[in-house]
Amino acid sequence: MTVPGARLLEGGAIAAEIRTAVAEDVATFAAGQGRAPGLRVVIVGKDAPSTVYLERILRGCAKVGIGAGFVELEGEATEAKVTATVRELNADPTVDGVIVQMPLPGTIRLRAVIDAIDPGKDIDGIHPLNAGLLRLGYDGFLPATAHAAVEILRRSAIEIEGRDAVVVGRSAVVGMPAAFLLVKEDATVTVCHRRTRDLAGHVRRADIVVVAAGRPGLITGAMLKPGAVVVDVGINVVDGHLVGDVDFETARQVASAITPVPGGVGPLTNALLLTHLIRAAERQAAERAAGQSSPMPFEAAASRGDR
Ligand code: NAP
Repeated sequence: MTVPGARLLEGGAIAAEIRTAVAEDVATFAAGQGRAPGLRVVIVGKDAPSTVYLERILRGCAKVGIGAGFVELEGEATEAKVTATVRELNADPTVDGVIVQMPLPGTIRLRAVIDAIDPGKDIDGIHPLNAGLLRLGYDGFLPATAHAAVEILRRSAIEIEGRDAVVVGRSAVVGMPAAFLLVKEDATVTVCHRRTRDLAGHVRRADIVVVAAGRPGLITGAMLKPGAVVVDVGINVVDGHLVGDVDFETARQVASAITPVPGGVGPLTNALLLTHLIRAAERQAAERAAGQSSPMPFEAAASRGDR
C-alpha cells in the first residue's frame, strides 16, 4: 500500500546550487581584490549548540573560498569589550561580514551589541537599519533563517501571491522577518504567538504555514488544511534526535508539501548567509573604489542566489 504523503521540500539541493553560484562570485571577487572575502564570528563564552552551528557556517565558507574565522572572548568579557571588538572588525577592511554568536551572556545588553555592528557588515540582518529596511520593503540584509523559510518556497515554485499564510512565532530574528517577507511576496499573513487564542483555528485556515516556535510537535496534521504547505523552521533535540516544531508524520499525510527537519530550512539558511557575505564584500569594494561610504547601501541589491 502506498501511503499518501506530501512533497518533501529539501534544502540540500537548492543550497548546493546557491553555493556553486557563490563560489563563482567569490573567485571573481578574489581575483579583483587580491584577497578572499572575509567573515568573522564573535563568540562570547562557550555555548555548545551555537558553537556547532557556527562551525557549520565556517565549513560552508571554506567550501566556497570565503576566509572565515572566530574571534573568541572569555565568558566574563564586558559589554564594552564585546562592542569594542565588533567596532574593530567594522574598521578592518579585510572583514566584510560580522556575526555575533547568540545568546550572549546575561550581563551584556543585546541591543548595545547589535547597535555596534556596521549595518553594511551585518550579514545576518539583526541591526535595526536592516530590520527597518525589511519592514519598509526595501532591500537590506535579511536574517538568514527567515530568508531561507521563504526562499525554499520560491525556489520550489510554491505559489505565495494571494495565499493565506500563518507564521507561528514572532521573534525579531525569525518569525517577524518571515512574516514581512511573505507580505512582500503578496501573501495575506497572520502572525501567531503564545497568547494567540485559537492557534489551531488560525493554522487550519492557512495555505502556507511557517512554524518557528521552538516547540516540538506544536503543529500536527489535524491542525492543517488539506493541501497546506508547511515550512518547519524549528530545531529541537528530542531523545538525541533533531526534530522540528511540526509533527512530521501526521503533517505529511495532510500537507501537499513540507520541509523535513533536518534537511529543510537549515541547509538553505547556511547557503544564503554566504550570499549575504559576498554581497556585503562586493558592495564595500565598490564603495571603496568610488571613495565613498554610504549608510543607506542597498539600492542596487541582487547577487545570484539572493534578491
Ligand atoms: P524564540 O525567540 O524563542 O521565539 C519563539 C516564538 O514562538 C515566540 O514568538 C513565541 O511566542 C512563539 N511560541 C512559543 N511557543 C508557542 C506556542 N505554544 N504557541 C504559539 N507560539 C509559540 O525562537 P526563535 O529564535 O524565533 O527560533 C524559533 C525556532 O527556530 C527554534 O526552534 C530555533 O531553534 C529555530 N531556528 C532555526 C534556524 C534554522 O536555520 N532552521 C535558525 C534559527 C532558529 P511569544 O512571542 O508569545 O513568546
